[in-house]
Amino acid sequence: MFDLELNLGVVENFRKANPPLSSILVLSKENVFMPKFQGVVHSKLPNTGTTIFTVMSKLASEVGAINLSQGFPDFPCSEELISLVNQSMRKGFNQYAPMPGLLELRETIAEKIQNAYSAVYHPETEITITSGGTQALYTAIAAMVKEGDEVILFEPAYDSYAAAVELSGGIPIYIQLKAPDFHIDWNEVKKMIRQKTKMIIINTPHNPASAVLSAQDMLQLEKITKNTDIVILSDEVYEHLIFDGLEHQSVMRFPKLAERSFVVFSFGKTLHVTGWKMGYIVGPENLMKEFRKVHQFTVFSANHPFQWAINEFLKNKENYNYLPRFFQEKRDLFLQLTKGSRFKPLECKGSYFQLMTYKEITEEKDTDFAVRLTKEYGVASIPISVFYHKPVDNNLLRFCFAKQNETLEKAAEKLCRV
Ligand code: PMP
Ligand code: GLN
Repeated sequence: MFDLELNLGVVENFRKANPPLSSILVLSKENVFMPKFQGVVHSKLPNTGTTIFTVMSKLASEVGAINLSQGFPDFPCSEELISLVNQSMRKGFNQYAPMPGLLELRETIAEKIQNAYSAVYHPETEITITSGGTQALYTAIAAMVKEGDEVILFEPAYDSYAAAVELSGGIPIYIQLKAPDFHIDWNEVKKMIRQKTKMIIINTPHNPASAVLSAQDMLQLEKITKNTDIVILSDEVYEHLIFDGLEHQSVMRFPKLAERSFVVFSFGKTLHVTGWKMGYIVGPENLMKEFRKVHQFTVFSANHPFQWAINEFLKNKENYNYLPRFFQEKRDLFLQLTKGSRFKPLECKGSYFQLMTYKEITEEKDTDFAVRLTKEYGVASIPISVFYHKPVDNNLLRFCFAKQNETLEKAAEKLCRV
């Protein structure tokens, strides 16, 4: 598969791609840039700033800290996959792919889903290849949510959900997951369902909480959505990152849920290529028809040569079946290495993120402490309060363990000194 020794200098490449401004442009008083737009700017997202992922990765790069903040591997993807992309380009897959994606890849995905979850999706009408998970989420929301529709989402929540809902004129209805295990209180959800509820967004395995939904959760969801027009948007981009023998409870395992669900996936997570921005979405034909109406006018079709390469690569099931074991080892290594520190782990059942409480160290706000930890101790993380619309600070930081063992060792050494 891939050779961890083959360090392609991923971190170094990240630095090169994000240079400080001064090294590419010398600013002086004489520099004249674009004059400002003279009209009034009516922002559609007035409260939105730069995402925490960009902020923390930039800070890590500026101060030379080990970056366990933004979720991406610091090890290379498979050499075979890279060769396949190369081959694909040489074979001439360089023009537009079909709008819903390469049919062969959709067929491979249909088979993969059937094997894993016993659900049958038609490759022609019920599967669409997208430019990453984020685009799939955005497009599904844009296709379904109208002005004034309510969308239930659970906090802490991946940050793109609420923004996409608001851009469609929808109203996010926030329900908090219950710490410390971040479970859903289904009675609370039931109370929040109204005529205006158009969609419920779930995420399992969960970013940033690393919790997973159980079969029992899915049955509850099935029960409370029965006889409604609610569409479920199930973000399952970490489907393979699930540990300790747990089975991923996809909505697709539950026929009554599957028939009202869009399910979103990301090849970025499965193939260690977050920079490729490739993913897919599945859903029943009448929902997918609406999805594609929006998809064709925002993206039209996703990157063609990558689709061909990914299809060839996925034919070998071992190219993804090893993922739970591989990431569980990383999680366990990180836990073992940080055992002697004053950071205390919460349970991580899935995803490649480990939450840690730092209550023994300080009572500082998580946003302040994350910055200080990066600058003073050289480890970047993500503060959890930013995943709430009104910050809830439980003194938790998120550390990404999708890193080379050496990186985890170096980071843990620093964390043990705090
Ligand atoms: N959903 C979740 C929960 C994620 O963590 C991510 C992470 N990147 C995405 C969606 C988006 O995936 P992509 O990078 O393929 O857009
Ligand atoms: N999903 C990644 C994370 O949670 C980052 C995605 C992004 O940077 N937009 O860290």
